[in-house]
Amino acid sequence: MKIIHNVIQMQAIADQLKKKSKTIGFVPTMGYLHNGHLSLIARSVKECDITVVSIYVNPLQFGPKEDFKKYPRDIKTDLKLCRQQNVDYVFIPKDEQIYPVGYMTEVRVKGITESLCGKSRPGHFSGVTTIVNKLFNIVKPGIAYFGQKDAQQSLVIKKMVKDLHMPLKIKVLPIIRELDGLAMSSRNAYLDAKYRRDAILLYLSLKKAKHLIAKKLRKTAKIISQMKRLLSQSEFATIDYIVIVDADSLNEVKQLKAKTKVLIALAVYIGKVRLIDNIIVKVD
Ligand code: AMP
Repeated sequence: MKIIHNVIQMQAIADQLKKKSKTIGFVPTMGYLHNGHLSLIARSVKECDITVVSIYVNPLQFGPKEDFKKYPRDIKTDLKLCRQQNVDYVFIPKDEQIYPVGYMTEVRVKGITESLCGKSRPGHFSGVTTIVNKLFNIVKPGIAYFGQKDAQQSLVIKKMVKDLHMPLKIKVLPIIRELDGLAMSSRNAYLDAKYRRDAILLYLSLKKAKHLIAKKLRKTAKIISQMKRLLSQSEFATIDYIVIVDADSLNEVKQLKAKTKVLIALAVYIGKVRLIDNIIVKVD
């Protein structure tokens, strides 16, 4: 496994691999790897000739009051995990190469970035699309792997790739959860024991919604109010948003219709830790 810090060097490696007709699989991450990341890496290793994992905590996607500085980092363990997964290259770029003095360009997807996380984190998605675009230009993957955990992010990336005719395929893989159902996240490291206990309420509220839909409840406002009731059991939980939206367009759905697919997504603060989770439900 090779560790690359330099943009030009990474591009040269990608060019060489492409010349030899190798398929490059790419897993962009912010590090502090867990089984969610590892599921993406394992799939890439299985499907592609070469797997590149990037580790970069991208300052551009954090708001001024967000957790950029204290975001968990552990490069040593990350590298060990990548080695165990048979990753070929780990790309760890330097800030001064990614955002050099005089840097002026951003990539922004409109529309679907303005609701859900985009509403509570202004500028977040243009930070994401900008870095992902750059990483695609550096790593030159044939396939890039993303997690359903960040449902809106996956849709935004797919839209960017389609709209800008980018020559690669995006694969979105299922959410990996802890045994009790909590979606794995690097930010779970912030949760102390009492917060960790209540963090499970996110998943329980999603399961509740799914159950209500199976019981033929069709008014989404009613479903959401039941989810809120469940979350209110925690003295530490503050809801940022709960939505039931069309799974492709992210348009709000008021009344569920048969044969449609909805995304039920939520962001909840447990104490000061902002957690997100979601499920896709097919309405029969
Ligand atoms: P991050 O390091 O949080 O930027 O995540 C890197 C990639 O891993 C993104 O595509 C995430 O959606 C994905 N990911 C994070 N957590 C999970 C999870 N629990 N299950 C599946 N994929 C995940």
